[in-house]
Amino acid sequence: MTQIGSNEPVSQLIFEALQERFPDARCELEFHTPFELLISTILSAQCTDERVNLVTAALFAEANTPETILALGQIKLENKIRSLGLFHNKAKNILASCKVLVENFEGQVPADLELLRDLPGVGRKTANVVVSNAFGIPALAVDTHVFRVAHRLGLAKGKTPEKVEEELKTIFLQEKWSLVHHLFIFHGRRICGSRKPLCVECPLTGVCKQYKEYNPGLH
Ligand code: SF4
Repeated sequence: MTQIGSNEPVSQLIFEALQERFPDARCELEFHTPFELLISTILSAQCTDERVNLVTAALFAEANTPETILALGQIKLENKIRSLGLFHNKAKNILASCKVLVENFEGQVPADLELLRDLPGVGRKTANVVVSNAFGIPALAVDTHVFRVAHRLGLAKGKTPEKVEEELKTIFLQEKWSLVHHLFIFHGRRICGSRKPLCVECPLTGVCKQYKEYNPGLH
């Protein structure tokens, strides 16, 4: 077990402790191609990865390219993703993105953060998830879990995901960015939940800013 309290930088201790706790930390969306990951990530807004995986298993069996998704059309696509919520806008954005991919990128997903961000419905977080998980490009997507965990640990102060991304990127080596993203998400989903963090089960109490604030006598 990593010893919190040694002379290693706090960020390194946090990284090692989370890696030890979550050795299988990875992208929990199921995909086989960059395009499938792009669609899954768009669908995952305000929805669990588990539910997205159920829906995409059926969707991708029928249509898993920009051309075949476009062939479904708005109504049919909406019906296939209805259970995920926000289905009207998600379908609209997916179809608009597919159109751009077919017209400008020969149906391929570009391995480029900025080009991805130009696609309808694709924000910085989604673009970061796609470049890092589909193309192995170092990126650190900040979602609600990464944002919360970084703040509680005292690693970031930024009020926007973009600011927190910047802060975390200066703290962790580039080669660790993608894994930091997964580790923080695993930690946020399983231990450091938004309403009730399970601090008694957390390996980071010794370095956590919030824990120290709430338990001043223990440090
Ligand atoms: S000690 Fe508590 S608040 Fe801090 S990271 Fe762990 S679970 Fe979250």
